[in-house]
Amino acid sequence: MTTSRILKTRKRIALVAHDHKKNDLIEWAEFNKTVLARHELIATGTTGRLLEEKLDRPVKQVLSGPLGGDQQIGSMIAEGLIDVLIFFWDPMEAQPHDPDVKALLRLAIVWNIPVANDRATSDFLMTSPLMHQEYEAVIPDYSGYVKRKV
Ligand code: PGA
Repeated sequence: MTTSRILKTRKRIALVAHDHKKNDLIEWAEFNKTVLARHELIATGTTGRLLEEKLDRPVKQVLSGPLGGDQQIGSMIAEGLIDVLIFFWDPMEAQPHDPDVKALLRLAIVWNIPVANDRATSDFLMTSPLMHQEYEAVIPDYSGYVKRKV
C-alpha cells in the first residue's frame, strides 16, 4: 500500500546552516529572494534571525540547532509540516550536535522530502517547476514495519 502527501504550491521550506556555512546560506537566500518570497520559511534560531534581517521578511524560528532546533525541524518533517529542507552542514568541522544532524538528514529521507545540502543543489531545487505547483510525494510504505512482530 503506497501513501502519499501533497506538497502545495506554497512550500514550507526549512533552512539550517552551520556557523561556517551561514554566510553561504544568507548569500544564496538573497540571490533566490524572489523565489523564496512565494514560500513559507522556517529555520533554526540563529539561521532564522540572520535570514529575517537579510530578507526583511518573517521567518518562523525554532530553537538554535545545538539546543534542539535540528530535532524540532526533524519532528516537523515527521509530522508532515515541512516540504523542503535546505541544510548547509559543515563538512570540515565536527559539531557538538552531530547526532542531531544525522537524525535530521535521516528523517528527511524517511519521509521522502527534497533535501539540498549545498548551493548548487539548492539552486537546482529552486529552479524546478515543481517548486511552483502541487506535487504528490510518495511516502514509503512503513506499514509492514509498524505491524512487525517483535
Ligand atoms: P543555528 O543552528 O541556526 O541556531 O545556528 C544551526 C545548526 O547548527 O543546526
